[in-house]
Amino acid sequence: MTRRAELAANLAALESRVGAACRAAGRDRSEVGVVAVSKTWPASDVVLLRDLGLRDFGENRDADAAQKAAAVPDVRWHFVGSVQTNKARSVASYAHVVHSLDRPSLVTALSAGAVRAGRLVDVLVQVSLDGAPGRGGADPDDVPELAGLAAAADGLRLAGVMAVAPLGAAARPAFDRLAAVAEALRSRHPEARIVSAGMTGDLEDAVAAGANLLRVGTALFGTRPPLLR
Ligand SMILES: *Cc1c(COP(=O)(O)O)cnc(C)c1O
Repeated sequence: MTRRAELAANLAALESRVGAACRAAGRDRSEVGVVAVSKTWPASDVVLLRDLGLRDFGENRDADAAQKAAAVPDVRWHFVGSVQTNKARSVASYAHVVHSLDRPSLVTALSAGAVRAGRLVDVLVQVSLDGAPGRGGADPDDVPELAGLAAAADGLRLAGVMAVAPLGAAARPAFDRLAAVAEALRSRHPEARIVSAGMTGDLEDAVAAGANLLRVGTALFGTRPPLLR
């Protein structure tokens, strides 16, 4: 089977999963977007999936992301990994959406990078659902302040929230907590409509909890080599 046929089959299988999840949740399929997380996979795969109709791609390391964004400029690039402050300028030069805003100093750094590049970058506040620090994301209590900083920053547009389900705990209650954080945020910032949650292993829970942007790697591309998470 060619790589194109493999990706097409994976995309069709993903589409039926997302469709079924939407029907089960009583939601319209058009409410839920998919970011294809292409980390560790070559730009040639991005081109194949673009030609199969996908428009949004995600990366979690600046060096890989910068290279693929340059190779495939006619799609929307999402940065889904934690952003080191010294990489913020680079990330702001190609990313359309940064999913991992988790601290005030990153607002400053991304804003400076976006202004320098003459771009407007959408940012999502990453929310920690762990109840403990470690896997990235701001404490839910800190989200309003961080969101306010992002909304006021030149070159940035506050677009919503993002989370990764906690390790070793059920995803659904965590995604329900994210939905509550997102709803509270929208009361102050109605434009912050994106709720980015759900990966290959838990996208049904995310759809059930109201997420409107899924980040899917494995189900589309296959299993990543273990050392390249
Ligand atoms: C890798 C990654 C994904 C995709 O994960 P899969 O389980 O392969 O679908 C989604 N979100 C983030 C933040 C990631 O790092």
